[in-house]
Formats: sequence, C-alpha cells, structure tokens
Amino acid sequence: MKILLTDIGSERRRYRIEESIHFSGTDLEQSVPVEAEITVKRFNKNLFVVTGSLQARVTLPCNRCSTGVDCEVAEDFVYTFRLDDEPQISKEYGCSDEDCETVYLDEPFIESDMILKEQIFLALPTHCLCDEMCRGLCDGCGVNLNNNACQCIEDNSGSPFAVLKK
Ligand SMILES: [Zn+2]
Ligand SMILES: [Zn+2]
Repeated sequence: MKILLTDIGSERRRYRIEESIHFSGTDLEQSVPVEAEITVKRFNKNLFVVTGSLQARVTLPCNRCSTGVDCEVAEDFVYTFRLDDEPQISKEYGCSDEDCETVYLDEPFIESDMILKEQIFLALPTHCLCDEMCRGLCDGCGVNLNNNACQCIEDNSGSPFAVLKK
C-alpha cells in the first residue's frame, strides 16, 4: 500500500492492511499473508511518525531436515520519516524496531510493503524445527530420517551382503 503523506493532516491516520507480500530469495521464495495496523502521525510539515504492528505466517525450512514449517511472526515497530527537500544519501529504510533512525524521503509517500517486509525479516526466528524430536537428514545417504530408514548399508558395495549377492 502506498501511503500518501500529503493527505495526512493533524489527525493521526490509521491503516488496516491485509495482503500477501511476495518474498524472493533463497530460503524465503513465497507469498506471505500479512495482517498489519499502521498509524501515521504528522508532527510538523516534514516530520511523520509511523507506529504499527504486524502478524504474518512464514514458511521456513526446518534447521535439521529442511521440511517447510509454518511460523507465526508478530512484530511492533516505530519509524520516523522526514520529508526532505534536499535529497539525502541514505534512502534505505534502515531502521530496526529498537533503534529507530530517521528515514529521509525524497517523495511524499511511504510504501507500507517496504516496512512490513523489513519487519518480517527482523522477526524471523533463527532457529526453526519441524519438531523438537526431528531426526534430520542422514549424513551418508541424505534421507529424511523422520520418514525413511537410512539407506547407507544397502548402498555400501563393500559390505558382506554385496559379496553374497555375487
Ligand atoms: Zn525437521
Ligand atoms: Zn544413511
């Protein structure tokens, strides 16, 4: 959603967002359903504070077996936007939830997708398991040991069984 700052007067504006945000990239290629609420408050002519919260469901690979696991993420955030007449060097939305820096805007709008995407990234768990008891993949044959028996012995042509087959 594109939030046009010139529309915002002295009243705080609340936006309710329900959409799917597309993520591309190695582990995260997917459409993520997101529900968010964003409030924009104008402090003066050029200064805007955006507060919000989001909930999203992201599918992440299990750390042990790589099976996709649905993770619920929730995050609160605050951003300060300054609309500047002079273009700034930093145009990144470089802002974490705790340590919020001012983001300079060249144009009078905010892309809510950029904020939500960044916050979902920050909220992703670093450790994700399909099950606490997940047995992972076999180092030798690569089977998922949760569903399959290890194939290592049968593939081993040096085993006594291979000799018997001859
Ligand atoms: Zn697993
Ligand atoms: Zn194996």
